[in-house]
Parts: sequence; C-alpha cells; structure tokens
Amino acid sequence: MLAENTPTASNATDHAQPFDATKEFAVLSVLPHPDDESFATGGTLALCAEAGVRTMYLCGTYGDMGRRMGRPAFTNREALRDVRTIELRDACNVLRCELRFMGLRDKCIEFEDPNQVAASIRAVIEELGASSVLLYYPGYGVHPDHDALGHATVLAVRSMPAASRPRLLAAAVGDPEVLLAQLGQPQVVADIRPVVQTKLDALRAHRSQTEVMFANWDENGPEDAQTSNFSDRLTRSENYYLLDPDAPTAFE
Ligand SMILES: [Zn+2]
Repeated sequence: MLAENTPTASNATDHAQPFDATKEFAVLSVLPHPDDESFATGGTLALCAEAGVRTMYLCGTYGDMGRRMGRPAFTNREALRDVRTIELRDACNVLRCELRFMGLRDKCIEFEDPNQVAASIRAVIEELGASSVLLYYPGYGVHPDHDALGHATVLAVRSMPAASRPRLLAAAVGDPEVLLAQLGQPQVVADIRPVVQTKLDALRAHRSQTEVMFANWDENGPEDAQTSNFSDRLTRSENYYLLDPDAPTAFE
C-alpha cells in the first residue's frame, strides 16, 4: 500500500510547474531537424518572444535526408536542403526566434563524437547566456538524431560550472500513456493555447514536411479521433522533464 505522501501519477499533475516565460533570460532550443523546433517547442518559443525574451534555435542538420517532399511533391533529394533551410528561416521568423545551424549530417548525429558536439552547443549556450535549454529527452526521442543530440546537450550543460548552468527542459516523444508509465508526469508544462496560431503558422512554413499532415486534418475532420488526439497534443501544451545534467543519460 502506498504511503499517503507517495506521489502517484494522478496527483503528480498538480505539482507540475507552469512554464513562465517572464522568468527566463534567454531560451535556446537544441534539436536536430528543421521543423523539430516548431513541433516540439514552437509554443514555448512563441511565449518567450511575446514576453520579450531572446530565443534561438540551434538546428543540428539541414534535414536533407527527410522522406517528405510535399504533397504533391514539389522538390527532390538534391534540392531538399535548400528548401528546408528556407522553410526553417520562415518558421523562425514566425516564431521571432534567431536561427543557427550546427551543420551536422542528417541521420548521422549518432556517429559524431558527442563531446565534440557538446562543446559547440556549450559555446552557444554561453554566448546567449541561456537560462533554459530545450532538448529531446535522450532515450525518448524516438529518432536516433533526436536521442544523440539530446545526449550531447546534456553533456554540454554538464561541462559547465554549476553556477552558470541553464536548466534542461526535455521533451519526450511518444504515446502519453507510455511516457506517463515510464517517466511519470512532466515537471514543467507550457500552456501554449495563447500562442497556438503562431505555432500552427510556423508549422505551415515547413510546407515540405507538414502539408500532408494539414491535408489529412482537413480531410478527416475534427470528429476523427486520431486526428483530434494528435492536434490536441500539438496545440494545448508543451511538456518538459527537468533533467539533472549530472545524471547519466540512456547513452552512457
Ligand atoms: Zn526531428
């Protein structure tokens, strides 16, 4: 039997801390692909911009190995890098977010030296004076690039002196029920409903990647359970786990 003060999944929700943009100095999102910034952190970045907080997206790759080419296809493998670069610039303009590329190879981040990747992330964190860094939860990123860059981001913060470390806010990908069972409730929840249109506009800027999704939404309509579940998750809140940079990740 559980002791009375044992946190359970149901009462842990009450202890989730709301994300408060006004408490931030600068927020850096470190994710591997053009469109990750909008899907995983677009609302959070928009909330920060509204609060006058400086934001930056440090994008790992150019997403040039992506399979989506638009619907109907309007680009090809050779042109995809340029297309996605332009789409990302447009999305970052919508989010009022600065953009920096790391220039890593798409679908190959797991083969990089994580300490080297971490050093370049740390340089940007320090340049920005970031108070929070947004990343994918290593081991819960679903895509190997998401996991590898998440891991390198933890190493980057771990290498910093304790007093100047930003907090690590990790987004986990996947079925909310599974995540709840394995990780518990996220500790920081950003209510993104006030900026949802900005997030959707940023997602639409990634035309090669999201045209299919929006077309499916339109075709299926809001009464389709799968569509409404997914769109709800995308537009209500962005949830983060607070990672301890000294704790080993799933990759060490
Ligand atoms: Zn991605």
